[in-house]
Amino acid sequence: MNNNPTVLEIDAKAVKHNIRYFRSKLKDTTKLLVVIKAFAYGSDPILIGKLLEQQNIDYLAVAYTDEGVTLRNANIRLPILVLHPQIENFDRIIAYNLEPNLYNFRTLSNFYSAVKRAGLKNYPVHVKINSGMNRLGFQEADIPQLKSSIQEYSNLNIISFYSHFAASEDPNEKDFTKQQIDLFNKICTELNKVLSYSPLKHISNTSGIINYPEAQFDMVRLGIGLYGFGNDKIETSRLKNVCNLKTKVSQIQHIAIGETVSYNRIFTAKKPTKIAILSIGYADGINRNLGNGLASVFINNQRVSIVGTICMDMMMIDITDVKCKEGDEVVIFNHQDHILYQAKTTTTIPYEILTSISQRVNRILV
Ligand SMILES: *Cc1c(COP(=O)(O)O)cnc(C)c1O
Repeated sequence: MNNNPTVLEIDAKAVKHNIRYFRSKLKDTTKLLVVIKAFAYGSDPILIGKLLEQQNIDYLAVAYTDEGVTLRNANIRLPILVLHPQIENFDRIIAYNLEPNLYNFRTLSNFYSAVKRAGLKNYPVHVKINSGMNRLGFQEADIPQLKSSIQEYSNLNIISFYSHFAASEDPNEKDFTKQQIDLFNKICTELNKVLSYSPLKHISNTSGIINYPEAQFDMVRLGIGLYGFGNDKIETSRLKNVCNLKTKVSQIQHIAIGETVSYNRIFTAKKPTKIAILSIGYADGINRNLGNGLASVFINNQRVSIVGTICMDMMMIDITDVKCKEGDEVVIFNHQDHILYQAKTTTTIPYEILTSISQRVNRILV
């Protein structure tokens, strides 16, 4: 924690609400994995990880090995799937009891060797199938060779076969998504033929859970939904916003008609104007394209427009008609609609707005 006034508050009640909501969509037997890659979508992986452990989540996933090491160093004991491990980190994965995704023959054979070197048996791993996303994963054509490899590498305990949807949020892509489900099923059936046990199967991310209840299989992988975003207005309205970004007014300036504000003098006062300087800027993760009146912030629930160019560490707002003094709290966002608006204005998605909040911003659980 530093003493900067900007904080990202993580609402524990909202997290619990969102977990309850998604659990209510699952069969009793479906396990729940929560993906907390990229600092738990820009929030705080340790705070969220501990909260999830208390909520009896079945599994965690991270993108990279070090993200898993951070969780282990914080004493989080849940099984952790590393979605995109690198061969250079395989010994580290084993030392920290993390579970790699093995997605091609190179990672599979190298991980087999790492487990052998460590003198271990039955090491938990996950095997990724490419069913149409064309990102990581074994192709259908790899299956004959994959069958013999997994028979040979008997020190690996395949906990799960999994795949990933390319367009589960898009109703126009229903046919493609159903093809993905069918191909995934077909490949798992083939692979199961050479195993004496049945690994778990999972394919659904948040929008998969919402749109394809028939594709729950044994586990689902919840990501953005945990933070309050479904894939449409109705689903999102049933969820609670988790990440609330707040800062404070550092100074108030009174400027006369014709005076300008911030770099390159984009904003010119058309009347006597009161400007508040906030201690947050683009280096904290506020997209520079939200300046010059494009986005607003909130003081006592009153909408206040950003004026002038957003600076690295500060930005300015027009408080001419607002009751406000130096030191007052300013909300940058505390509702999904605010985040969705920022995303739309900068032609991106809420995922990027959340993961852009920089590590300089303090995180607190409330
Ligand atoms: C990020 C990720 C998820 C979570 O996706 P959301 O759309 O945020 O629910 C699930 N699975 C994999 C493989 C991922 O990379």
